[in-house]
Amino acid sequence: MIVGAGAAGLVSALRAADIRRRAGASFPITVYEAFREAGRKILISGGGRCNILPMRAAPEVFVSESKPYIVRRFLEQFRLPAQRSFFEELLGGVLREERESAKLFPPTNRAKDVRDRLLERVAESGVEVRTVARIRDLARAADGSFRLRLDRSDVAARAVVVATGGFSVLPAGVDGAGLHWAAAFGHRVHPPYPALVPLVSASAPHAHLSGLSLTARLQARTVGAEAQSTGGFLFTHRGYSGPSVLNISHVLEKARLSGSAFRVTARFLSQGEGAVDWNTLLNPGPGQVSRLLERHFPDRLVSLLMQTASVEDVSLSQLTREKRRNLLLALEEFSLPVQATEGYRTAEVTGGGVSLEEIEPATGESRLSPGLFFAGEILDAFGPIGGFNFQWAWATGFSAGLGSAEYCLVPEMKLPPG
Ligand SMILES: Cc1cc2nc3c(=O)[nH]c(=O)nc-3n(C[C@H](O)[C@H](O)[C@H](O)COP(=O)(O)OP(=O)(O)OC[C@H]3O[C@@H](n4cnc5c(N)ncnc54)[C@H](O)[C@@H]3O)c2cc1C
Repeated sequence: MIVGAGAAGLVSALRAADIRRRAGASFPITVYEAFREAGRKILISGGGRCNILPMRAAPEVFVSESKPYIVRRFLEQFRLPAQRSFFEELLGGVLREERESAKLFPPTNRAKDVRDRLLERVAESGVEVRTVARIRDLARAADGSFRLRLDRSDVAARAVVVATGGFSVLPAGVDGAGLHWAAAFGHRVHPPYPALVPLVSASAPHAHLSGLSLTARLQARTVGAEAQSTGGFLFTHRGYSGPSVLNISHVLEKARLSGSAFRVTARFLSQGEGAVDWNTLLNPGPGQVSRLLERHFPDRLVSLLMQTASVEDVSLSQLTREKRRNLLLALEEFSLPVQATEGYRTAEVTGGGVSLEEIEPATGESRLSPGLFFAGEILDAFGPIGGFNFQWAWATGFSAGLGSAEYCLVPEMKLPPG
């Protein structure tokens, strides 16, 4: 039984069916999905285009409480080139490369095609997908099998893959059941938090810039965590968004969890010109400050930068030492007055989750409870914007499909004592 028909659950089902076919076995494989629609998040991913994968592997960019080498071991089970071939075969075409962002998209640029092809292949493999079938509870029976409780019935399973995902952007009723089961089976669960999420600010001058899109290098710091990110930055009427913002948002959520202070700063990057040495450019000279800044930034940002530094539009030679220092600070470490994140409502993923240390990377199997497998976002790791989260879901789903099917082939060898 696979709980959750998301990215990880569907790939798990395909891999399990493949092992079953190759072994000439006939055990049933069923996927249970709480909602009416399977693969909902695939449908809405990448703005409806589904950024299936990153162009380049970068295991070091994943965020987890576990050591980087453990994250790497999970990803190695289904490497990026193999994943790419898998989807090219599934979708019948070469994946589209978006070179500037190093992202891969389906040949048709449509998320729906990815979701539909996965579901078609799952059906062709003889796997049943039951929708509107929420699993309410999961427990071990006396004979070592599992009992899954639905609203009106119970089902038995020899092996269970828990691929219930996280809390982000799902309709009401998502209860984190998978995390509760993991804890009930003795697993360490790192507290979940929204990640890859826009930031909220009450700053009126910043909200005034709503809609302004730039490139920025962001830095977020709190006790025991920090992150840096360079990329698109967007002023919104609620605060800040864009890839560079989403990629550092977890630091704020970690600060919230631990009750620590945090600080977020931005260095806005000059249009089309790489790094600028502001220290030299602000040397005394005849030109106006605003003219200099306007060569690099849109007018609206120039006004905000000057206002933040309390600098009037004088010539560079008229800038006092203190004002020059203020302006330099605004240009290099612009402070973003952030109150919070937008939370699960708009978060792309959930951070925290089932500790990787108690899961076997090659099979997704619990080291504490044989026959119990975990895959996808429920595990304690997520990556930045760029296809890394699907990469994680496909990789861990692939392992759990293999592990659970092999477990069903030789159940007597793995049943817990007694
Ligand atoms: C708006 C948005 C855009 C995104 N775009 C991208 C992108 O372009 N590229 C990328 O790499 N990542 C993207 N992500 C992240 C990506 O969608 C997730 O990382 C990925 O879907 C996780 O897969 P999963 O299978 O672990 O979880 P999910 O896709 O969340 O699937 C879990 C499934 O389990 C079901 N479920 C939960 N509890 C139960 C239960 N008790 N009984 C039965 N079923 C249950 C849920 O209904 C759900 O269908 C995006 C996320 C969002 C929200």
